[in-house]
Amino acid sequence: MAKQQTLKTEVHYSGITLHTGLRAHIRLKPAPVNTGFVIVRIDVDGKPTGKALATNVIDTHRATTIACGNSPVHTVEHVLAALYASEVDNVIIEMDGPEPPIVDGSSRPFLEMINKAGISKQRTDREICVIKEAIWVEEGESKLIIIPDDLYRISCTVKYGVSILDTQYRSLEINTQSFFDELSLARTFCIYDEIEGLMKAGLIRGGSLDNAVVLKGDAIICKDEMRYPDEFVRHKMLDIVGDLSLVGRRLQGQIIAIKPGHPINVSLALKIIEKMGY
Ligand SMILES: [Zn+2]
Repeated sequence: MAKQQTLKTEVHYSGITLHTGLRAHIRLKPAPVNTGFVIVRIDVDGKPTGKALATNVIDTHRATTIACGNSPVHTVEHVLAALYASEVDNVIIEMDGPEPPIVDGSSRPFLEMINKAGISKQRTDREICVIKEAIWVEEGESKLIIIPDDLYRISCTVKYGVSILDTQYRSLEINTQSFFDELSLARTFCIYDEIEGLMKAGLIRGGSLDNAVVLKGDAIICKDEMRYPDEFVRHKMLDIVGDLSLVGRRLQGQIIAIKPGHPINVSLALKIIEKMGY
């Protein structure tokens, strides 16, 4: 049985956030066994904490939002994906605001932070969530199913209906190396026609081509080149890794995702917790 792991030392980063557009700091710190991923709002009186679990999610509109006492933290999925893919089980995530830096819109900067900190094995065995029967959720055109498998795999199809470029499919075994090589550089993206509505809703105030790719008809607007030919589906898979880490254990099963998004990802994580009786 594999042992739990944490970081060897603490690491921090500061940068602009996507939705609020403010400068924020994030600090990742080693934590004792059975801590899981715990977020701390160090800027709020009493420094409230919140476990990164699906049962503690309070909003999934455009990003995954977790409750820290009465203070929310949102857009945590890219950090959580990097922690999960690095096989970290226990970590304290300190934040001085409601959102971590978006950096380039991918998980790679967080992987670099974790690699800088190093990984340390702990003495207690890890508990694994082994999927024994199919569990699924359906919301509108989105479907997410997890079925038994020897490993953790994600097979994902996306289609937004605004361009032929937006139909993409990929299937991948998720481990530290495959996540680093195949998913971690995939950036956040949005559909051009949605930008005005998001801005009116007070979101994406820090959004720019430094941290997002924009899809407009058959044109892709981004800084530099696309990082992968199918960057959109890969970012959706990255989001699934982050959101499904909210089960709170390592997963063994294959996820088949059709048009996934934060709401359905979190719904599946909740249903897994419920079915497994955690
Ligand atoms: Zn994302």
